Amino acid sequence: MAEVDLTSVGKVYPDGTRAVTDLNLSIADGEFLVLVGPSGCGKTTALRMVAGLEDISEGTVAIGGRAVNRVPARDRDVAMVFQSYALYPHLSVRDNIGFGLSLRKLPKREIRQKVDHAAEILGLTDHLHRKPRNLSGGQRQRVAMGRAIVREPQAFLMDEPLSNLDAKLRVQMRAEIARIQRDLGVTTIYVTHDQTEAMTLGDRVAVMKKGELQQVAPPQELYDRPTNLFVAGFIGSPAMNLLHGTLSGDAANPRLEIGGQTLTLAGEALTERPALASYFGRDVVVGIRPEDMEDSELVDAPGGSGLTSTADLVEAMGSDVLVHFAVEAAQVVTEDTKELARDAGTDVLGHMERPRTDLVARFSPRTRV
Ligand code: ATP
Repeated sequence: MAEVDLTSVGKVYPDGTRAVTDLNLSIADGEFLVLVGPSGCGKTTALRMVAGLEDISEGTVAIGGRAVNRVPARDRDVAMVFQSYALYPHLSVRDNIGFGLSLRKLPKREIRQKVDHAAEILGLTDHLHRKPRNLSGGQRQRVAMGRAIVREPQAFLMDEPLSNLDAKLRVQMRAEIARIQRDLGVTTIYVTHDQTEAMTLGDRVAVMKKGELQQVAPPQELYDRPTNLFVAGFIGSPAMNLLHGTLSGDAANPRLEIGGQTLTLAGEALTERPALASYFGRDVVVGIRPEDMEDSELVDAPGGSGLTSTADLVEAMGSDVLVHFAVEAAQVVTEDTKELARDAGTDVLGHMERPRTDLVARFSPRTRV
């Protein structure tokens, strides 16, 4: 096991495409780091540079304190798990899992022991004699994991390992991967475009956009304190509501003017976020998580403050109800309790449930759009 360090890492493909720019990441020994971002943001390229499957154009990759830029993939002591599993169809599960060890000419007895152990961890003991074609998608995925486990590598590198599975199996295997990683304590870099996967698996999550790292933080911090509008909009489902408005009033009575409506902020807003003081009279983008708004009838409640509009779509999600309504040009979503559910076409008030902290914590200046 080992730490993995990327220092000012960049990648330019031979055709001139720049895929990664100045990437700095330190993944601690035993840590589970998830690289997430939209398609084409460079996450696979970054992972492949760590694996040794792609040349590093700029910067340094170090594994266990050793720079590996010039070390071939097979000597980097990392195990990669691919989306495609890359199993050998003519080999049994046992031989697939033990393949890398046979190549390294380990004694047969040792291979048998290691494969048995991995199969036990993965619940594959009863399937060791089978061929991949006779396995379910989830089982094949486990075999691919088994092959990585028996190598006892310094790090696991996983590239969208769950994307070929159906939704239910994905959730199951996600939990399994989390458990196995925790039990083995192997440093892991995991690439996905799925923010739910990222949030549930990562000790920390690194968000990338167009080859550049936007923020790296524990999942909750990413959710509560996104560093910019991209992260704010990318993390969270349904996505954070982003409304354009103007900060008005003064430090004692700060207000937000949004589409002709006024939202009163608590005075503490400025104490908690002193930087806001410089935004009076200026355009801002207000971020409000759907669950931080409620569809409330307390329009005139003392101290209450909200945005009134008409619900144009109500989606029942089981435990929650999503209410969509428009505020000026923005489409706003609130997450509501069943009791407050109402029909589309009725008036709603997106009432700030926790305006003091949640609203203010997610202020971002419009210039960042
Ligand atoms: P996805 O989730 O779709 O796999 P990604 O975030 O993993 O995307 P990469 O596969 O790393 O993104 O690609 C980053 C950028 O580099 C993209 O613009 C892609 O088109 C480009 N790219 C990838 N491989 C090559 C290549 N071999 N030659 C040239 N450009 C490439």
